[in-house]
Amino acid sequence: MLRFKNLGSGSTGNATVVEGSSGTQVRRLLIDCGFGIRQLQARLAQAQLQPEDLDAVFITHEHSDHIGCAQALAVRYRIPVWMSEGTHAALGFPDLDGLLQVAHDLEAIDLGEFQARPFTVPHDAREPLQLRCSDGAAHLGVLTDLGHASPHVLEQLQGCHALMIEANHDPGMLQASRYPPFLKRRVGGPYGHLANAATADILRTVQHAGLLQVVAAHLSAQNNTPALAQEALAAALDWTAEEITVASPTQGTDWLRVGERQWGG
Ligand SMILES: [Zn+2]
Ligand SMILES: [Zn+2]
Repeated sequence: MLRFKNLGSGSTGNATVVEGSSGTQVRRLLIDCGFGIRQLQARLAQAQLQPEDLDAVFITHEHSDHIGCAQALAVRYRIPVWMSEGTHAALGFPDLDGLLQVAHDLEAIDLGEFQARPFTVPHDAREPLQLRCSDGAAHLGVLTDLGHASPHVLEQLQGCHALMIEANHDPGMLQASRYPPFLKRRVGGPYGHLANAATADILRTVQHAGLLQVVAAHLSAQNNTPALAQEALAAALDWTAEEITVASPTQGTDWLRVGERQWGG
């Protein structure tokens, strides 16, 4: 069984737990760690977890809303940390006390109860990777920071039963915002973040009968609203707006089981 719970998503911090289990065996991966350590512990507690329950951490890229307390958490609780060579370099080659594991595009990470397969994405970081997780039967795509959908990204998202995907902004709200021009260009550019319509296009491309669950993530607090994101994504799939779960910056989502039609923020 594969399930996941987002612990919070947005420019103020991102973290998601993916859990695979069979019988009494349980393995958990924390994808991104973009909070301070106390905040992360409080959010894990809301998921009925402690840091000791995590088997590995995967860092998608070096931006602070994804790194957060990764180093302190890993060293304090002796948890292996996966990241690309480029992310490690961009962070200034931190000494992770032997816990660093280097992740590569399309090289699956075996977590026992499930596998996580990183894939390269276009985003303005040194070597960003996002993930597809699978226990063989259920497939979950996690994609939080993306400038545009490359053919490689679309290929990795084929056949997923659940997708957690960025729906960052509404272009009209971004243009009307108080963001300085360079930031508007960065966010809306091909290596920035996805507009709702761009996320909708991706969903249209990868939709299949087995896609049962979509979580809209990394919504801009200034330049988007949950309702706008839900409306755009639901229209692409011919779903109702409530069937799109929105990951909130403070609460994340409920635990969601991959391969079942569930929603709930
Ligand atoms: Zn980023
Ligand atoms: Zn981010």
